[in-house]
Amino acid sequence: MVIDPPEPVAPITPLTTSTATATTVVATTPVTTPAATPVATPAATPVTTPAATPVTTPAATPAATETAPPHTTSATTLTETKKPSKEEEDARVAEEIDHLMKTVKGLPDYYKLIDKIGEGTFSTVYKALDIRRDLYHNGDWEPQLMESEEEQKTMNQYVALKRIYHTSSPRRIANEVYILRKLIGSPCISPLITAFRQQDQVFVVMPYIPHDDFKKTFHEMPMLEIKSYMKALLTALHYLHKQNILHRDVKPNNFLYNRRKRTGYLIDFGLAENEEEGRKLEEYTAKVDAKSQNNMFIQSIMGYVKNDARHQVRANRAGTRGFRAPEILMKVTRQTCAIDIWAAGVILSCFLTGRYPFFLANEESDAMMELAQIYGYREMKKCASSHGRTFSTNINIPLSRIPWFKLVEHLNKEAIQSWDTKDYKDALDLLDKCMDLNPKTRITATDALQHPFFSS
Ligand code: ADP
Ligand code: MG
Repeated sequence: MVIDPPEPVAPITPLTTSTATATTVVATTPVTTPAATPVATPAATPVTTPAATPVTTPAATPAATETAPPHTTSATTLTETKKPSKEEEDARVAEEIDHLMKTVKGLPDYYKLIDKIGEGTFSTVYKALDIRRDLYHNGDWEPQLMESEEEQKTMNQYVALKRIYHTSSPRRIANEVYILRKLIGSPCISPLITAFRQQDQVFVVMPYIPHDDFKKTFHEMPMLEIKSYMKALLTALHYLHKQNILHRDVKPNNFLYNRRKRTGYLIDFGLAENEEEGRKLEEYTAKVDAKSQNNMFIQSIMGYVKNDARHQVRANRAGTRGFRAPEILMKVTRQTCAIDIWAAGVILSCFLTGRYPFFLANEESDAMMELAQIYGYREMKKCASSHGRTFSTNINIPLSRIPWFKLVEHLNKEAIQSWDTKDYKDALDLLDKCMDLNPKTRITATDALQHPFFSS
């Protein structure tokens, strides 16, 4: 809601149509207004860090972004767009691949693109045949992926070629490559083979990792597989966090789990960053906040302040909805590796409740209300105040917390019967520790791997 600063009470104009936004406030002390902070600061610097450059000659670059036509809300002009058939889609992908093979000079000498396997805002990922594989030393990464030498010889001729669009900031691209290079050899983390740039397009090459679709398979996984999934994910986070790097976007689509092999690999380091970066932002914000201390005139008022002259809280809010830790929702500037553990906990909650996604809210304030429905008013208030924020709402939420076992019993009763009682109890305890509202007491990846859940 929006209020005029001089008014002592809150007259209300909803900020959005969302119910929670109209009534929920996380006010900061002393700063309140929400500030969008894009993770990747657009910079004018050219890309420089990509590693080995097998392909270098400039060539015509295909348009990297498709901008969607502006949406219209008028009922009279809305037309239903027909979903392309499988054949149409295949033809479109074949055309796109053909175009790339012709326009990215040198590409056909190294890779034969076979299929498109992923498409996001900043990149497209292709499956490709690594034509020159046998000419290179692959010993750095092959043993990590393949069990036997035989398998190494026969299987992995394929690579995943991630084409990062030029719309992604150079800083973000360089960061992704830099972090992947740093992590080479880390268990359960996708190895980097190489990276190359052609004009404004960057290609990151990784081994192709055969994996199962989480959405289709998570509810079929027995407890033993839930354990291997979580163990592989926490192993990846253990090695990542050991280097003080936060992934920032832990979710099933970024963790390629193979059911047959019972292991998985963390991918997509586009949002990853060193904890140190977060610390710098915190210091900067603290300095600016200190200057705006004299603007504390509305601490007791509910709602967002209209035309608020005070400094806005700047916090990294990268990540994917449903997986953001409470401290991200509360715009805490100093974010730590604990945010990844929260996201891993959300994945465990999907397994246990049989719901994916588990959290559904689009808006951040709605996301906070989803949390409040589980954790209750008291704990949310405590959590907010530990971050120097104020949590206040006139939406009906329980005063105290709903224990996880009650939720699981309510949502996934049948599955509980198939689980060993000790496993189930341990899983609940681990979930509780991963989804601790307080990042300071939240379990670390290293400790989580020692949890009794993994000991049997
Ligand atoms: P984005 O930054 O666009 O999310 P990702 O790196 O997450 O890109 O890759 C998008 C999708 O491409 C993944 O969810 C996965 O399905 C597929 N993918 C990415 N890397 C690999 C890989 N090494 N092996 C197999 N599939 C992959
Ligand atoms: Mg991704």
